[in-house]
Amino acid sequence: MSPVQMLLGCLLLLYLSEFLVWVRSDAWLLRRRGRGWEALTRGGLISSSRGSLHWVYPVPQLGRAYSVRTSPPTASTVSTALRLSIETAFSVVDIGRRYQGVEEAFQTLRWTSWGLWGLVWVVCPLLLQFMGLQPMLWILASGALILMVANAWILARAHSKTFSESGDERLRLVLSACLSPLAAIRSWDLAQKQALDGFHPLAVAAALPGFQGWDELAAAEWRRLRYSVASESSASSAITVDAVESAEVCAAIEVLARRRGIDPAHWDSPPRAEDMAHTQYCPRCRTQYTGQATCCRDCRWTALMPIPQ
Ligand SMILES: [Zn+2]
Repeated sequence: MSPVQMLLGCLLLLYLSEFLVWVRSDAWLLRRRGRGWEALTRGGLISSSRGSLHWVYPVPQLGRAYSVRTSPPTASTVSTALRLSIETAFSVVDIGRRYQGVEEAFQTLRWTSWGLWGLVWVVCPLLLQFMGLQPMLWILASGALILMVANAWILARAHSKTFSESGDERLRLVLSACLSPLAAIRSWDLAQKQALDGFHPLAVAAALPGFQGWDELAAAEWRRLRYSVASESSASSAITVDAVESAEVCAAIEVLARRRGIDPAHWDSPPRAEDMAHTQYCPRCRTQYTGQATCCRDCRWTALMPIPQ
């Protein structure tokens, strides 16, 4: 392998590393998949209790991904404020408006992003082929400098207008875009990563065009909330605030499902036995058990339910 090929190989690896996204463990990543979108709630290339690392398509715009936290509302009582906040969190119209607004605010960055992309992956290889290494490096350095300065300036301006309260995040984005042309290519998409945070991730998924697998995700989240440990422990004592909040979110998910033509009653119907020996199942995670089991090994739910034979 020639030194030039090795250099290009290293550049390609560095470029691909820019398209890895770190997601906190309390957030979902919504990324482009085919012509639509998909949500990642666990797994990833590397994952720990703090979060996980995921890939996105290594092309500007197709590498767009949104990180949306699932944290429940923080209101201490079931009040009108809480109800309103749940309504807003599930408003598909508001999410669509926000999505469009942020998209338009950062639209100018597409010129610098694609400009740098073209410079690195089209112009430079051609110059290298026909003019040699030194002229290529000169043109790369001067072209990248002009585009990176323009990119950082537009990024800082659009970000302070759209996310005026996120000063630290803006500084981090602008600094990394100033340090490398590869990071600058990413700033168009990375600036929008937190744009839909605050809304419920299932509502965000419902608002994104061509979203895949909404029914399964909604069913899993609905069961997780409906059969939450808080609601189980509260069965004998007073109903806790957590349980009431979970019920509110469950109801909002049901409304969203009905609007999409899905009957949420199916989410709670007993499964078919995967094995003749399975006579019980966990209503929370749907794992099946034999008659001896007293609680779910996966999620610790104690009230297993019978599978109709
Ligand atoms: Zn379970």
